[in-house]
Amino acid sequence: MLRLPAFTYLAPSQLTEAVRMIADHTPEEAMLVAGGTDLYPNMKRRQFEPTHLIGLRRLAELRHLTGDAHHGLTIGAGMTLTEICHHQEIVAHYPALATAAGLVSTPQLRNMGTIGGNVCVDTRCNYYNQTYWWRQAIGFCLKKDGETCWVAPGSSRCWAVSSSDTAPVLIALNAQVHLLGPTGERIISLHDLFREDGIVYLGRRHDEILTQIDVPPATGWRTAYVKLRRRDAFDFPILGVAAALRLDDDGTCREARLVLGAIASSPMLATEAAAVLVGQRLTPECIAAAADAAFKPAKPLDNTDLMLSYRKKMVRVHVTRILRQLVGLPIRPDHGEGPL
Ligand SMILES: Cc1cc2nc3c(=O)[nH]c(=O)nc-3n(C[C@H](O)[C@H](O)[C@H](O)COP(=O)(O)OP(=O)(O)OC[C@H]3O[C@@H](n4cnc5c(N)ncnc54)[C@H](O)[C@@H]3O)c2cc1C
Ligand code: SF4
Repeated sequence: MLRLPAFTYLAPSQLTEAVRMIADHTPEEAMLVAGGTDLYPNMKRRQFEPTHLIGLRRLAELRHLTGDAHHGLTIGAGMTLTEICHHQEIVAHYPALATAAGLVSTPQLRNMGTIGGNVCVDTRCNYYNQTYWWRQAIGFCLKKDGETCWVAPGSSRCWAVSSSDTAPVLIALNAQVHLLGPTGERIISLHDLFREDGIVYLGRRHDEILTQIDVPPATGWRTAYVKLRRRDAFDFPILGVAAALRLDDDGTCREARLVLGAIASSPMLATEAAAVLVGQRLTPECIAAAADAAFKPAKPLDNTDLMLSYRKKMVRVHVTRILRQLVGLPIRPDHGEGPL
């Protein structure tokens, strides 16, 4: 059995107290913990070894969900994934978000896991998500304790994969996040929170707490999320596709955002694919062209589950399916199949 290392648990009851506590410690000393469903397993594997954890569970200021589809939503970072995926307004008007939250891990973990923790979830890699002893046997790797990246040995950066289900959706929805630190609050787009680096994958400063997510109005938008994973019962994504489309009454696409998750160290905006759609009616031919445009730049690496070539191929398949789903076209199993 893997055991947690010893640590001191701090339980602030106010946000300002939590900010002061995290600011009083170095990044090596202290981390934030919300549901702990990602951090505690990682600590058991000694991927993180903080001496202090600052628990966010007692902070009522993080536990709110207000607004509606006409005005937009404000979602406290401490709302659980279960609360998100069952929330009536989200289910009715932000189906992509309800779907993504509902596809994270298992019911028990969704009851504990928060939306803030899901956005900040650690990047993953076959050479990293292993026990301490497994990692020690290969001499560790760049992401923790070692000097070599086993996926790309000549590389000076880590290529671990962004594995959040909700982050691609929130980017497709054009959401913003509030980050509160000792010098005040800043609000940035969710897209700008991420860095294309498997180690420093967030632009969040160590002493900043993600407090709130603002989601713009849903009026006029159609959204969806599809996830590829080995086991449908529960598994991290090895590809996630989030799509948001705004269509005119005649079916012409006015705005489109497509985001690919789990193929790089950050969620990837498929801007060329979205550009193919804008100004067009989403015919099967137009959808096929957009799927091709998403497929070409998608370059997953060989460091998560299933074969690399299959995961790349599935980008075209899933982009095709999600777009057909959003415009009500029938979906056959061979849709999106094409040359590798
Ligand atoms: C078996 C298993 C399967 C899983 N499957 C999936 C899956 O399919 N998809 C998926 O996306 N995830 C999956 N997870 C990971 C995890 O359960 C979820 O990502 C969950 O939403 C994490 O939320 P949490 O509140 O538990 O985060 P925690 O574990 O508490 O924290 C995760 C990280 O976020 C930071 N953090 C948390 N809250 C904040 C905040 N408010 N401000 C700043 N930093 C913060 C922590 O410091 C930590 O670095 C799985 C985990 C397990 C164990
Ligand atoms: S991508 Fe390389 S450095 Fe990053 S976790 Fe995997 S093996 Fe380690």
